[in-house]
Amino acid sequence: MSTAQPPKGAPQRSAQHEGTPVSPALVELEGVSVVFSGKVRALDDVTLSIAQGEIVGLVGESGSGKTTLCRVLVGLTPATTGTVTLGGETVGAQLAKSPLAFRRRVQMLLQDAVASLSPRMTIGKTLREPITIHDLPRAEAEARLKTILQRLGLPADVLAKFPHQISGGQARRVGVARALVMQPQIIIADEPTAGLDVSVQGELLNLLLELQQELGLTYLLVSHNLNVIRRVTGRTAVMYLGQIVEEAPTRELFDKPAHPYSAALLSTNPAIDPAHRARRIVLQGEIPSVVNPPSGCRFHTRCPVAQPRCKTDAPALTEVGPLRSVRCHFPFSLELRR
Ligand code: SF4
Repeated sequence: MSTAQPPKGAPQRSAQHEGTPVSPALVELEGVSVVFSGKVRALDDVTLSIAQGEIVGLVGESGSGKTTLCRVLVGLTPATTGTVTLGGETVGAQLAKSPLAFRRRVQMLLQDAVASLSPRMTIGKTLREPITIHDLPRAEAEARLKTILQRLGLPADVLAKFPHQISGGQARRVGVARALVMQPQIIIADEPTAGLDVSVQGELLNLLLELQQELGLTYLLVSHNLNVIRRVTGRTAVMYLGQIVEEAPTRELFDKPAHPYSAALLSTNPAIDPAHRARRIVLQGEIPSVVNPPSGCRFHTRCPVAQPRCKTDAPALTEVGPLRSVRCHFPFSLELRR
C-alpha cells in the first residue's frame, strides 16, 4: 500500500457522498464469479451495487481481483456465473445487441496515460478517433470536444501535438477528455493518480470530483493510495483473494474496520491526524494463490484473530449495519486503535 501523503489541495467528499447512495443503482453485480481455465477463480461470488452519481472505492493488495472486476464491468472479461447489469440490462445482452453502444457507456481511465496514447497520432487524432469509430454526429461531437478541452484546461493547440510534446499532467487530462467525449455513464478509474507528483495528483482528483458534481458522473476508483480513497469516495469495497470481504461507507470503514484484513490494510496508512494514528498490523506471509485458495475463510492463513472454525467454515458476506457488509465470523475483533 502506498504511504504517500494526501496530495496538496486534494478534494474533499461532497455531502452527497458520505456513504448513502442517493439514486437508484446504475451498476449491479450479483454473485459474480470469474473462473479462468476451469480452475483459477479470479472472482468469487462478488456482489456490488453502484448508484448513479456515486464514487465507490475499490482497495486490496495486488492479486485480490480488482483488475478482473474492472474488466468484467467494461465487458472485457465475461462473468462465468452471476449477473452484471448496467442501467437495468445485463452487460452480456448489451454487448450482444450493440458492443459499440455499450462501450460508449462505460469508459476506463488507465494508469499510464502517456503509454495509452499512440506516439504516432496527434492528440487531435486520438481524441477524434472514438468519434469516428462510434459514428457520432460530427458537428455535435466537435462542439463537445471543444467544451471538454476548455473545461479540462487544455489549450486548443494541444490537438496538433504528439504525446511526447505534452506534459504528464496534460496526458492525464487528454485521457479524461478521451473518456468524456463519449459521454459515458460510468468511468472506471484504475490507479488514476499513480506515478503523478502530488500537485498533479491533487489537480486530477479535483477535476474528477468537479466533473462528477457537474455532470452527475459515476466512478469506480481503484487505488493503492488509501488517502485518495478516503478523501474522494463515499463508499469503499475491500477485496481479498477474489472476494469482497467488506463494503462500507468510507468514513466508517476508516474509523472502525469490521474485517481483520481491512484493519490490517488500513493500518498501513499514515493518519494525517495524530489523534487517529493506528497501530501497524503486520500480516504474515504473502497473499495465497487463487488456484488453490485456503479452505474455510480465505484469509485464515494470515488472520491474526483466526479461530478453529475459520479453517473449515467459509463466512458469507453479512450485513453488520446500514450499507455495511462483512465476510467474517468475528467482525470488529481486530482493533485498529491502540
Ligand atoms: Fe479472521 Fe476468521 Fe474472520 Fe476469517 S472469519 S477474517 S479467519 S476471524
